[in-house]
Amino acid sequence: METSPMARNLSGRFVAGEDLEQALAVSRKLNGEGITVTLDVLGESVTTLEEAARARDAYLRTFGAMHEAGIEGNVSLKLTQFGLDLSPTACRGNVEQLVRRAAELGGFVRVDMESSQYTARTLELVSALHAQYGAVGTVIQAYLHRSRADVEDLCAKRVRVRLCKGAYLEPHSVAFAKKADVDRNYIELMKILLDRGFYPAIATHDEKMIAATKAYAALRKLPPDAFEFQMLYGIRRDLQRQVVAEGYRMRLYVPFGRAWYPYYMRRLAERPANVFFILRNLLRH
Ligand SMILES: Cc1cc2nc3c(=O)[nH]c(=O)nc-3n(C[C@H](O)[C@H](O)[C@H](O)COP(=O)(O)OP(=O)(O)OC[C@H]3O[C@@H](n4cnc5c(N)ncnc54)[C@H](O)[C@@H]3O)c2cc1C
Repeated sequence: METSPMARNLSGRFVAGEDLEQALAVSRKLNGEGITVTLDVLGESVTTLEEAARARDAYLRTFGAMHEAGIEGNVSLKLTQFGLDLSPTACRGNVEQLVRRAAELGGFVRVDMESSQYTARTLELVSALHAQYGAVGTVIQAYLHRSRADVEDLCAKRVRVRLCKGAYLEPHSVAFAKKADVDRNYIELMKILLDRGFYPAIATHDEKMIAATKAYAALRKLPPDAFEFQMLYGIRRDLQRQVVAEGYRMRLYVPFGRAWYPYYMRRLAERPANVFFILRNLLRH
């Protein structure tokens, strides 16, 4: 799939391009519209430590290039791309190099949250690096039962949190099964983060979650720069522009690179209508 030209046309909806230059061009355009970015060099679950080192180097290059180009943005990475399944020590060393560089440049590294088998290890690694360097934060998924305690812990440590609903298929023993429960928990966690969090990111395309966040921020009389909204590149562009026009901060998650397949499949799974959209496009070709 990743090398087929036809499939590559389709991936363009959610992916900014295959190389750094294309990602920088998209970032420049978004910055011009008042939107900051977080760049994701696509890739996850690497199978050798050499691949993990290559991912680390790609991120170091991305960070340097963003800094040189004066892009308003940071990076997001996955620990399985940095070798977590192969060697926790090597993974930590890889992430540490990037976080140290970010701290030197006054930048920031966001560690994405993967499936629940990685949650505890991700939080441990991020907390340890944050205590040493600052410049790193992570993601909390509202669908997990454990998330309330994790949010409280990260707030106490002043670690920046991005709140999302969660994108992986999880067993009922660890995650809420019903959308209504996930949404209720999302709003509760959003309130904790706006009250006690350190520059939280509210990541969603759900208009109800966005309205609840705006209402709570107004109730607490928070200035618009106390938090940011985040959305994914290619999803709800209308809503992205509307939120910016209303004076809120907006950051887009901008993935780029060749290893787009797992990311793309999660985006399709989130919204069955996307599959029909793809089929329509395939037929048009
Ligand atoms: C910036 C950002 C970073 C993220 N990082 C992580 C992470 O680290 N770990 C993780 O598990 N998940 C992550 N996610 C994904 C997240 O967990 C959800 O799976 C995803 O955002 C969909 O949930 P929603 O909040 O938009 O609400 P939903 O209730 O799923 O969707 C609300 C509305 O948004 C639109 N929409 C949502 N998804 C799509 C789509 N794929 N295609 C088209 N329209 C769509 C539709 O209009 C839908 O009705 C991230 C999301 C964002 C925005």
